[in-house]
Amino acid sequence: MPRREFFKTGAGFAALAAAGPLANLASVTAAEPTRARKSNGIQVGAVSFVDEGADRVLDLVQERGAVDTIYLTTFTYGRGLAGRQIPGHPFPDHGAQESDEKTFHGGNYATPHPEFYRDTVLKQTRAPDHGDLDIVATVLPAARKRGLRVFCSIEDAFRSDVPGVKEVSEVDLQGRRGGGLCLCHPAVRAFWTGLATDLCRSYDIDGILFFNERNGPLLNALGASHAQSIASSRVTCFCEHHQRVAKEHGIDFERARQGYQKLDQFIQAALDGQRPSDGYFVEFWRLLVEWPEIIAWDRLFDAAKHQVLAEVNAAVKRVRLGLQVGFHIEHVNSFNPIFRAARSYADLATKADFLKVVVYNNCGGERYANFIRNAGSTVFRDVPKEELLRFNNHLLNYGDEAKLDDLASAGLSADYVSRETQRALAGVQGKCQVLPGIDIGIPTGKNSRKASPEDTYAAVTAALKAGAHGVILSRKYSEMRLGNLAAAGRAARDSLKG
Ligand SMILES: [Zn+2]
Repeated sequence: MPRREFFKTGAGFAALAAAGPLANLASVTAAEPTRARKSNGIQVGAVSFVDEGADRVLDLVQERGAVDTIYLTTFTYGRGLAGRQIPGHPFPDHGAQESDEKTFHGGNYATPHPEFYRDTVLKQTRAPDHGDLDIVATVLPAARKRGLRVFCSIEDAFRSDVPGVKEVSEVDLQGRRGGGLCLCHPAVRAFWTGLATDLCRSYDIDGILFFNERNGPLLNALGASHAQSIASSRVTCFCEHHQRVAKEHGIDFERARQGYQKLDQFIQAALDGQRPSDGYFVEFWRLLVEWPEIIAWDRLFDAAKHQVLAEVNAAVKRVRLGLQVGFHIEHVNSFNPIFRAARSYADLATKADFLKVVVYNNCGGERYANFIRNAGSTVFRDVPKEELLRFNNHLLNYGDEAKLDDLASAGLSADYVSRETQRALAGVQGKCQVLPGIDIGIPTGKNSRKASPEDTYAAVTAALKAGAHGVILSRKYSEMRLGNLAAAGRAARDSLKG
C-alpha cells in the first residue's frame, strides 16, 4: 500500500492496535517508523532549548510525552508561541523561573538568508533574544539523532516597530495604519513565501506549520472572538491593494467602507444599550441585507488569508514534494457559528497536508464565556446570556457543558474535544490529516480551569478515539507541567493498546 494510503485508511494504526502494547511495537513499526503510529507532536519555543539544553528537552518530551514530532517555534513576535511563561502566571516545574519580559523580542529564531527576501520590505526580522543562536540548526541534529520529526512553526504576529511593517500594515476605516500586515500587499505575500522557502531550503526539516489567528473585518467589528475587545471603528483593510483586489472581485470599495461605518454606528449604539425599535438582531440583519458589501469585504479578507496559505504550501512543495504543510485553525472556529461558516474544512483540506485544529478545553471555558458575553452585548443583546449560551451550544453541536457563570472554572469537557475532532474529520473527507491541538497549561484567569493530569489524559484520549491522526500538545513546552506532559504520553501509549 502506498504510504499515504496506508496512513489515511487507518490500516497501519489498526494493525498496530491489534499488535498489543507499546513495548512490542519496535519490530512491528520497523517498516513504517513514523507513519504506523499516530503522530504525537509538541510545540516548543526557542527559549526552552536555551534554558534547559536541547538534549534535556528532547529527552523529557520523548520519554514522558511519548512525543515523535517537534513543532519548533521559528518565527513569531507573539508570546503565545515564544518566550517563557506569560508574565504574571506561575512557572511550571522546569526551565528558568524568571520572567523574560525584559529580554523577549521575537522574530526569526533561525538564520534568515537575504536571497529569499528580495521581493519584500520585511528584511530585518532576525530575533535578537538569544544572540547569534540559530535554533533550527541547534535542535535539528539532536532531534534527528533521536528519530524525531521537526517542523518549523511560523506565525503571522508582527511587532509594529519592525522596519518595513508600517508601510505594509492594514488601513482602518479612518485611514489609520496599524494592526496586522495587509494580506493583499505583494511585499507581505512575498515575505511569507520567502520565509517558508528559506526554512525548507536551508534546513533538512519535515515541513512548516503556519499560524494566522487574525479575524476578518466583520468579526473584528462585532468583537465576536473570545480574546478581543469590541473595536468596531478599527476594522480593516481599506488600503490601495485592497481597493484593486476589490475591483477584480466586482466589489464596490466605497460601499464596503460605508457599510462598515454603518456597522460601527450600530455596534457603538448597541454597547450603549440604545435598542433599535425592531430589536438588535433584526437591525443587524437589516444592515447585512442593505449593505451586502459588509459580507463581501469580510470574504475578501478570508480569501486573501487562504491565498497566503495556498502560496506558502506551493512554495514549500516547490522545494521538495515530500515536505508537509499544516495550518493552525484558531480557537474562535470552535465557538462562533459565523466564523465557522467562513471556514470550510473541505476547502482548507485542499491547501494543506494537515490541519492543527484547536480544541483547547481548559482555557476553552473562559474563552467561550467571553465570546458569549461579547456576542450578547451587541447583536444578541435581546437574549438573556444563559439562554444565548444554550442556543449557541445547539448550533455548535456541543454536549452538556457548564452554565455561563461556571464555564471558566469548569472548562470545556473531553466530549467537546471529541466532537470538534469528529467534525473536522468529517469536513476534510480524508483529504488531509487532522491533528487536534491539546491544551496543556495555557494560562487562564485566577479562578479558571487549569490543566491536570486527568484532564490532559482525557483530552488526548478523546481526540485519538475520535479518529484524529495524532495530536499536537500546545501551546508551548515552557507552559507545561511535567505531570501533565506525562499524562499526555500515557494517553498516547494507551491508545496504541486499543
Ligand atoms: Zn490592504
